Amino acid sequence: MTHDWKDEAARDLMSLGGRLANLERGKGSHVWDTEGNRFLDFLGGIAVNALGHAHPVFVEAVTQQAQRLAHVSNYFATPQQLELAARLKRLAKTGDEGRVFLANAGTEANETALKLARLHGNKRGKGTILCLNGAFHGRTTGALALTPKAAYQDPFAPLLPGVVAIDPTIEALERAFTDDVAAIFAEPIQGEAGVVPLPDGFLARARELATEHDALLILDEVQTGSGRTGEWFAHQALGITPDAITIAKSAGGGFPIGALITFGEASSLFYPGTHNSTFGGNPLASAVANAVLEHIEDTGLLENVTRRGAEIREKVQELPLVSHTRGAGLLIGIVLDGPVAAEVAAAAFERGLIINAPAADVIRLAPAYTIGDDEIAEFLDIFAASLDAVAHSQENAS
Ligand SMILES: *Cc1c(COP(=O)(O)O)cnc(C)c1O
Repeated sequence: MTHDWKDEAARDLMSLGGRLANLERGKGSHVWDTEGNRFLDFLGGIAVNALGHAHPVFVEAVTQQAQRLAHVSNYFATPQQLELAARLKRLAKTGDEGRVFLANAGTEANETALKLARLHGNKRGKGTILCLNGAFHGRTTGALALTPKAAYQDPFAPLLPGVVAIDPTIEALERAFTDDVAAIFAEPIQGEAGVVPLPDGFLARARELATEHDALLILDEVQTGSGRTGEWFAHQALGITPDAITIAKSAGGGFPIGALITFGEASSLFYPGTHNSTFGGNPLASAVANAVLEHIEDTGLLENVTRRGAEIREKVQELPLVSHTRGAGLLIGIVLDGPVAAEVAAAAFERGLIINAPAADVIRLAPAYTIGDDEIAEFLDIFAASLDAVAHSQENAS
C-alpha cells in the first residue's frame, strides 16, 4: 500500500468530518470498502437507498436513459419528466390542481418551498415563517434559517429575517400563530433530531391554524417521504392535506433528485421567471425516480416497509441498553438507556454494521425497503454484540 486514503481525504477534501471508510462497491444491503471489508448497510446512505445498492431496476434505468438522453435544460420538457410529475401528483394525492417542481436534492426543494412561502406572504403583507425547534431542513442559507441549531447556524449569521422557531408543542403553535404568519415548515418525524415524531394532533392543529390565518402548511418529507414510513408520504397516515411537501432522499433510490409538490391554490404562486434549476427535472434523474417508484408500487414494497419495521422494533426492544423505539416503517429511532449512541454506532461499525447516532442517546436505522429475514437476522446479531460490548465497557468503567 503506497498511500492511505485517509491522507488523500485530509489533503484534498474540505474538512467537514465524516469519511469512516473508503467504499467501492455495493450489492443489496451490503457495501464493501477498498480493503475488502464488508458492511451491512442499515443506514441506507441516510434514508436514500430504497432498493439497496446496485438493484437491477436502478442499474437498468440509469444505463438505458444515459444511452438516450441525460440532460436538456429547462427550456424543454421530456417524457420522463412529465411521467414523474404525473406520478408524484398521483402518489401525493394532489388532484388535478397540484404542481411539481423538480430539483436535485432536499435542500434545493426546501429553498424552493421557502420562496413559495415568500410569494404567498408578500402578496398578503405577511412576513413571518414558523419552523420547529429540532428541525433539519438543509444547510444552504435559506434552509439553514429554518434549522434552529446553534452549531449549524451561528457561524453563518446573519440569516434570513422573519423566521421564528417554536417548540413542537400544540401550545407553542397556538401562541405563535398570528395573522403575520405566511407559512409553517414541519417534518412529520424529525429525523436528524433523533427520529422524533411530532406530538399527536400537532399537524392537524397546524392545518386548522394555517387555514384560519391564511398561511401555508409546508411539510418537509425529504426523509419521511417516498415510502420510508410505509405510506407514500408520512402525512397521509394523519388524514391531513398540506399546501406543499418537499421530497428527495429515497425518491431516486440513490440517484440525486428532489421535488416540491404543491396542493390547491399554492400551485399557482410561482410564475415564469420566479424560479428554476439547470439540472432539475433532467431526464436521467427523472427516469431513475420513475423506475424506483414504479418498482416500489408494483412489488408492494410499502407493505414490506411496514412489516419489517414493526419486526425490527419488536426484536430490538429485548436487547440490553435499549429503552424504547420510535418512528414509522423503516425510519427507526432506537432510544438507549444513556448517552452512548456514538459508542454503540462505533462498536457496530467495527463489527461490520453501518448505523448512526443522530442524538446522544439515539441510534437511527433507515435500511432498504427490500430487507428480509437474512438482513434482519444479521443486523440483530451484530447490533446485540455491539450493545453488549458497550454495556460491558460501562460496567468495567464503573
Ligand atoms: C436530508 C434532509 C434534508 C436535506 O436534503 P439534502 O438532499 O441533503 O439536500 C432536508 N430535510 C430533511 C428532513 C432531511 O432529512
